[in-house]
Amino acid sequence: MSSDKDSVSISVVVPVFNEEATLGELIRRLTAVMDGLSRSHEILLVDDGSSDATPSIIEEASNKTVSRIVGVFLNRNYGQHAAVMAGFAQSRGEVVVTLDADLQNPPEEIPKLVAKLDEGFDVVGSVRVPREDSAFRRLASYITNRAVQKATGVNMHDYGCMLRGYRRSIVKAMLQCHERSTFIPVLANSFARRTTEVEVSHAPRPAGGSKYSLWKLINLQFDLLTSMTTFPIRLLSLLGTLISITGIGFGLFLLLMRLIQGPEWAVQGVFTLFAILFVFVGAQFIGLGLLGEYLGRVYYDVRARPRYFVQRVTGREAPE
Ligand code: UDP
Ligand code: MG
Repeated sequence: MSSDKDSVSISVVVPVFNEEATLGELIRRLTAVMDGLSRSHEILLVDDGSSDATPSIIEEASNKTVSRIVGVFLNRNYGQHAAVMAGFAQSRGEVVVTLDADLQNPPEEIPKLVAKLDEGFDVVGSVRVPREDSAFRRLASYITNRAVQKATGVNMHDYGCMLRGYRRSIVKAMLQCHERSTFIPVLANSFARRTTEVEVSHAPRPAGGSKYSLWKLINLQFDLLTSMTTFPIRLLSLLGTLISITGIGFGLFLLLMRLIQGPEWAVQGVFTLFAILFVFVGAQFIGLGLLGEYLGRVYYDVRARPRYFVQRVTGREAPE
């Protein structure tokens, strides 16, 4: 694929979905920042099936003779993370930086990320301070971030922020993951050894609304959850065990009271029925949880992620 000859130092990948209002300014500011870095670079604008003037703006920008802009056009809307993946597949940079097209992530912050990558970090995340989004979005993000921290063990504070930098090896690893639902920041961290974060400023969206409807947002949350853990499935088994134990305890309690207080107390066995019901309901949950455990393993296998990535081999030439 990419040989050393045509490799560039920095690739910038931007997913773009119906952003005609801000795209012109984005291209202007991004070009200025990247030219200022005076390193070989490319800017990949991935059109995620936009229905406005976005594709023609991208095409025009990429056709200018001096431009380092590459247009990647998807045939329909596949979602932000799929679009970024498409950009990764076309990128050639030793490091790859992603950001949003809506100017909420100021392109002027890119040099900060690049500096950290130069220090040798595999993945550089960013924390938005102050965050310019609605309270609801912030709360949702807070819960998500805490959950991801717990599940991945990587202590990053802002998984929602897509202004991020990755080393080529990490991008390569991500491209070998063929699952349909991806959440890129989490995926990247599962392959990274050294990660860090920088603080970046965040602007309110200058034009248009968020491209995420509530439904798309819920979808994204589930992608995130299922891409990192099968723990919720285990909760089913736990719940079932708990219900069953309660049922058995309740049954024993009834038996005891019946012996002490006599048959009138137990209302002719109505409560006993409840106790039995509890045990069976619990057993059903345990069964579901077990099924889920198998399904979870099938899911992992179907994704067919590579088991590991060899960083380097010393003592003899690596094949390839
Ligand atoms: N985006 C995309 N495809 C989609 C939705 C969004 O490529 O289906 C892009 C969008 O153009 C923007 C980025 O993903 O560059 C983030 O979207 P948005 O700003 O709407 O999300 P928010 O800031 O509300 O999280
Ligand atoms: Mg945005």
